[in-house]
Amino acid sequence: MIATESTAVRAARTTESASMSGSTTVVQGAGVTRPLAELADAGLEIPVLGGATVRHVNLDLAASAPALSVVAAHVVKLLPYYSSVHRGSGYPSQATTALVEEARVSVGRHVGARDGDLVVFTRNTTEALNLLATAVPGETVVLDIEHHANLLPWRDRRVVVARGSIADTLAALEAELAARPAALLSVTGASNVTGEVLPIAELARIAHAYGARIAVDAAQLLPHRRIDLVASDLDYVAFSGHKAYAPFGSGALVGRADWLDAAPAFLAGGGAVEHVAVDDVAWKTGADRHEAGTPNVVGILALARALAELERLGDAAREAHEAQLTERLHEGLEALPGVRVIRGFDDADDRLAIATIELEHGSVGLVAAALGAEHGISVRAGRFCAHPFFDRVSTRSNGLRASLGAGSTVDDVDRFLDALGRLIAEGPAFEYSRTPGGWCPVTDDRPRPVID
Ligand code: PLP
Repeated sequence: MIATESTAVRAARTTESASMSGSTTVVQGAGVTRPLAELADAGLEIPVLGGATVRHVNLDLAASAPALSVVAAHVVKLLPYYSSVHRGSGYPSQATTALVEEARVSVGRHVGARDGDLVVFTRNTTEALNLLATAVPGETVVLDIEHHANLLPWRDRRVVVARGSIADTLAALEAELAARPAALLSVTGASNVTGEVLPIAELARIAHAYGARIAVDAAQLLPHRRIDLVASDLDYVAFSGHKAYAPFGSGALVGRADWLDAAPAFLAGGGAVEHVAVDDVAWKTGADRHEAGTPNVVGILALARALAELERLGDAAREAHEAQLTERLHEGLEALPGVRVIRGFDDADDRLAIATIELEHGSVGLVAAALGAEHGISVRAGRFCAHPFFDRVSTRSNGLRASLGAGSTVDDVDRFLDALGRLIAEGPAFEYSRTPGGWCPVTDDRPRPVID
């Protein structure tokens, strides 16, 4: 624990400020003072170093978001009916089977699936893209800005280094596809580092003009913007429930059936087959082919419920809510000395409520640890599983990312900006050491929650 007088004084000041800012909403100027939707962590009080508790500010939604409260309630309601699917003769099993198939239809409808498209349930976006990678009959073109989940799975991969503007990047992709055909262009809908949104309909036009299909990694985009396969003329979309307020372990790949029907079963086992003999297997087509084994019923139903709730909240309302928070976040960060907001493109006019910064001095890992331990604010430090992109656009070895969503308010943004400003100016109030797992308080007196 801290030994010096000066740090003890600062600790007292930090605790006081933390408990003040944690108690009520203090809003200066215009902004969204209420969440658009209630999340399961609403009003969560957490301990900070030194013994106080504060309202948790969750600015790590791009990594994983708490459940919407309606999703959590839905899960509790369905649990009594939880049963095996497709095989049971009892009422709960038949009800569960029907609910899963209805969820398949509603998840497909949410992303504008066409007749004949498959909705394959997966664990997450990573698994969805790995599944698609087994089915691509040729080369895949990707940008270097991708999350590793959309960079690593492709067997025959060509990486185009993005340019300083979206316009030049589209031109570079077009030149690549014109020079040598590819089966697939797989792009992120929005960067998980900068939040910059890519023009997916325009990318689809370019891919199709050169005979390629397009897949969109919508892990970041889907929780914040409506995606429509038909409206944007996309062939595939992949996404994760846990980033869309349904953290129960499911995701999906939605898109054209032919490649998936021709691919080997992603998992070999029960449910994926029509018939098995000792020396022969007749595999099913359709989603079943790739979903062997007992499915994650709870995760699938939670995902469907979350997407239905996002629809109920309204696309325009979600966008407007997050646009206000994004503006305040970026304006506040740009006003802080020694902070640089990382950008990939100088002409990106649309971005999600995500900002990654680098610091002129000091360690973002230490600042992130102190935000959590002293201020009750969750962010993320690192390279965000997008190493090639991060290493190209950042001058530092790590960045600090804040990300918001439907459950966030202007008070969350202001708490973050205030705490970050103090940490940059004064440093942490407690002592930290660097461990293999990152920066940690030397003495951590925060009790773990008791969850029985
Ligand atoms: N793609 C993007 C853009 C992401 O941000 C992430 C996760 O952060 C992924 C893919 C992988 O998502 P998951 O971990 O749910 O598979």
